[in-house]
Amino acid sequence: MPYQIGEWLDPERILIVEDDDALRETLAHTLGTICRDVRTASTLADAFREAGNAKPDLIVLDLGLPDGDGTELVTRLRALTDVPIIVLSGRDTEDAKVALLDAGADDFLIKPCGASELLARVRGQLRRSITSLAARSWAQIVVDGVEIDLVSQRIVRNGQPQRLTPTEWALLRALVLHAGRTLSPKQLWDLVWDREFGDYSTHVRVHITHLRRKIEPNPQMPRLIITEPGVGYRFNGPK
Ligand code: CA
Repeated sequence: MPYQIGEWLDPERILIVEDDDALRETLAHTLGTICRDVRTASTLADAFREAGNAKPDLIVLDLGLPDGDGTELVTRLRALTDVPIIVLSGRDTEDAKVALLDAGADDFLIKPCGASELLARVRGQLRRSITSLAARSWAQIVVDGVEIDLVSQRIVRNGQPQRLTPTEWALLRALVLHAGRTLSPKQLWDLVWDREFGDYSTHVRVHITHLRRKIEPNPQMPRLIITEPGVGYRFNGPK
C-alpha cells in the first residue's frame, strides 16, 4: 500500500513551554482538543525536565523565557531527538527565522496566533513526522497524482515516468525526508552538495526550478515544493 501524505495521528502528548500564564492556558485549551495529555512548563529548566520525562510527540516553545532563550532548548533537544518543535515568537525577522531553522526548529508561529492556525501547524508537523517515518521505511509516497519511490528512484507524474538527474534525486530525497519542515538553502546545500564553496542560494534555486518542472503537477504554481520567501523550501502534502 502506498503511503498517502495527508494522514496524521492525533498526538498522545504535547509539551507547551510558555511563561505567560494566560497564553499558556489558551494554548493548553486549544491543543487539548486534539490531545488528551497536554503538559506545560513556564521556564527553560522545567521544559528540559518535562521533555525528558514526558517524551512528548510535539513541543510548542516560546522563545523569551525567564531563565533563558528557547533557542537553547532547540539546540539541546536536537542533539537527542527529532521531536517536532514549533516556535512561538514575537520575532518576525527573516534572520531570526533562519537562525532558528539552522538550530533545528521545525516551524514558527508569530504571536498572537489563532487557534485554527496553531492546530493547522501542529497537524502539519505530525504529518511530517509520519511522512519522514514512511520515507525512512522505504514506502512509496503518492501526492497530487505524483508517485515518488525514493528507493527504486522512480517518479511518475500523471502516468508519465519522469527522469531525474542524480543531483535532483538527492535534492528531492532531502526535501521528502524532511517533509513539512522548511530547509534553508544552506541546509539543502550541506545535505545535497557537501561542498564548502560556491553561491549556494543560486545553485539551490536553479535545481529547485529544474526539479519542479519534472515533479510538480503545475510547475508555475508549485504545490509539492513550497518556497518560504527569504527562508527556504518545504516539501508539502495536500491539506
Ligand atoms: Ca515569554
